[in-house]
Amino acid sequence: MSQLCPCQSGASFADCCEPFLTYTNKPDTAEALMRSRYTAYTRADWKYIFKTWHKTTRPTLPSLRSSGSAEWLGLKIISCNEGMLGDTQGQIEFIASYKNDQEIAQIKEHSQFVCEKGQWLYVDALGACME
Ligand SMILES: [Zn+2]
Repeated sequence: MSQLCPCQSGASFADCCEPFLTYTNKPDTAEALMRSRYTAYTRADWKYIFKTWHKTTRPTLPSLRSSGSAEWLGLKIISCNEGMLGDTQGQIEFIASYKNDQEIAQIKEHSQFVCEKGQWLYVDALGACME
């Protein structure tokens, strides 16, 4: 029985983000990393979020753990700039929806990613996205 991936790629979890979250494989692109980090949030996998966050900008693991978990409702990738296999950096605009205390809220972000030694990493937010 295959379960659809929480990142809403349309693929099954086993064929999408699971290999990344189990460190069996590494995302090839900034978008794949972005999706796997969203999936990690839906599963409160703070260790994965920490490991895929650039060491110059990441919070501590205990502070991530204490940030609590919202109920994540969906991810929509709006645009990608570079971030492909062979690139060293890229930007992604996305909207992530979640439910917090019965209220539905959205995070709109334009994020910066870098690829170091074959590992894509989240750096920080460049600002709210344009949509
Ligand atoms: Zn996925």
